[in-house]
Amino acid sequence: MTTFHDLGLSKTIVDTLTALGFEKATPIQAKAIPLVLEGSDLIGLAQTGTGKTAAFGLPMIEKLLADARRPDPRNIRALVLAPTRELVNQIAENLRDFVKKTPLRVVTVVGGASINKQSEMLSRGTDILVATPGRLLDLVARKSVTLTQARYLVLDEADQMLDLGFIHDLRKISKMVPKNRQTLLFSATMPKLIGELAGEYLVNPKKVEVTPPGKAADKVEQYVHHVPGKDQKAQILRKTLTDNPDGLSLVFSRTKHGAEKLMKHLDHIGFKAASIHGNKSQGQRERALKAFRDGEIRVLVATDVAARGIDIPGVTHVYNYDLPEVPDAYVHRIGRTARNGRDGIAIAFCTPDEAHLLRDIEKLMGIQIT
Ligand code: ADP
Ligand code: MG
Repeated sequence: MTTFHDLGLSKTIVDTLTALGFEKATPIQAKAIPLVLEGSDLIGLAQTGTGKTAAFGLPMIEKLLADARRPDPRNIRALVLAPTRELVNQIAENLRDFVKKTPLRVVTVVGGASINKQSEMLSRGTDILVATPGRLLDLVARKSVTLTQARYLVLDEADQMLDLGFIHDLRKISKMVPKNRQTLLFSATMPKLIGELAGEYLVNPKKVEVTPPGKAADKVEQYVHHVPGKDQKAQILRKTLTDNPDGLSLVFSRTKHGAEKLMKHLDHIGFKAASIHGNKSQGQRERALKAFRDGEIRVLVATDVAARGIDIPGVTHVYNYDLPEVPDAYVHRIGRTARNGRDGIAIAFCTPDEAHLLRDIEKLMGIQIT
């Protein structure tokens, strides 16, 4: 067993971790932390729910503490980018737990919230900024923040950050961060073509892999229901939800509209359900996630906006009500359960139209789903 002390973290941080119940390092933490401390650029690949946030967060915090400089007003010392607002908030919460006994300040910047407040938060200078790319660029354009003092750039869910939806923003941002920086990329999946793009952002990177990329968390039990048509999906979902009254279930739908419709249907037939997708206001999204986290609602219907990174330890079931178009999304979706050594069940519904999607998923994962 590797302790955080063994990995070279200082007493302040180790004490904080002990108080948080982090006694030993997870495999990705044990591999990544020493390399980040020694200053390497890094690609870290490990399954969902295995502690990647601390794997980049802890050594970065340690290095920021070792170099006691305070950030200038409207400047930042480290930048963490993530694809969704919810994930940004979660990463920032984790980092704030870690820096509790230190003078470091963690600030978040996400769309859908007041830009003026964010600008004000940035005016004092920030040690670690956690952001979604779009809002960050808006704040840079307003001169609320400059990135020229950043010494660390982290891409969480790196393959998604390098993919079409984000690559343009990412190119702009990476040019604003000095070349002389340490860059860290983390994800549970890294398709080959996207991995090749990563090279542009890294210098002599080390690569640490805990399991082959694309593999699901070991403890997810996976099943598939073959259904003749879409209509049968709701019936089977209703039955399985009824059979597991104590479960906490996350149901993925392909479209925002479909998610909303399904949520209303479930609500109508007596389940405590909420939904989270891009047509909801940020306030609604956060309230839904919190109610689900607290167990007040037992079923959350979501689009892929909730597929990556979200850590709700109590999730027992993940339903792929619709199979995702991109097989990697399946790995991330089912990774919302069985976090950090727990158990979890993933159930997919597959109509004849979706059979090719199921084949792609099985091929990626190298398994056959029962
Ligand atoms: P990933 O990013 O790999 O999906 P997270 O960083 O979200 O995983 O961590 C998953 C869960 O495991 C979180 O609830 C986190 O608090 C917990 N965790 C991470 N590292 C440790 C550790 N060393 N000891 C105990 N719990 C940990
Ligand atoms: Mg993560």
